[in-house]
Amino acid sequence: MKISCRAVGEYQANCYVLQEEESGRALVIDPGAEAEALIGWIRTLEAQPEAILITHGHFDHLGAAYALSRQYQAPIYMHPDEVLYMQDRSHPLMRMTEGMLDELLAALPQNGRYVCDGDVLRVAGEPLQILEVPGHSDHSLCVYSAKEAALFCGDTLFAGSIGRTDLYHGSDQDLARNIVKKFGPLPEETVVYTGHGPSTTLQQEWRTNPFIRRR
Ligand SMILES: [Zn+2]
Ligand SMILES: [Zn+2]
Repeated sequence: MKISCRAVGEYQANCYVLQEEESGRALVIDPGAEAEALIGWIRTLEAQPEAILITHGHFDHLGAAYALSRQYQAPIYMHPDEVLYMQDRSHPLMRMTEGMLDELLAALPQNGRYVCDGDVLRVAGEPLQILEVPGHSDHSLCVYSAKEAALFCGDTLFAGSIGRTDLYHGSDQDLARNIVKKFGPLPEETVVYTGHGPSTTLQQEWRTNPFIRRR
């Protein structure tokens, strides 16, 4: 599987394309903004998106989801309760760019596919395990490929840090505990593809990240 990353939008959220090398069948994770640029990039990758996954309901991770879903006739996977955030227009983080939110919400009954902890997605030719790690948002989803030793963790864990927890009901302790609970059993060599900034490994984070302590 080939993994490609491009940061988009004013928050430079990482959009990932996971594609099966031979067929090009692909999963797009967190298309946050810049739909036209993403579509052009996906063309150069020779990827054929067959699904889109939104790790959580913050606009910097979903702003281009509707446009890509329409372009590729691809379903949008997300946790059902994260839709609530998308409807909370009072929150500064849900201020939408490109006016895409209404279209996305309107498309969800038909194009949305709701997934939660323990589900296995079969896209891009590989089983991808869904892990739910609450704390940054109530139902943040992560995507784990055992075969690739790859973890796409949205805004839960960052290189040297963890996601902010002041937005809704979360706390640093809860998020840290959930990270340890869900990522602790995974192999240490797992590469962690974060929602913002550089990738890291679980080993590196267990050793040096001051927010998480594995006991
Ligand atoms: Zn977020
Ligand atoms: Zn984010």
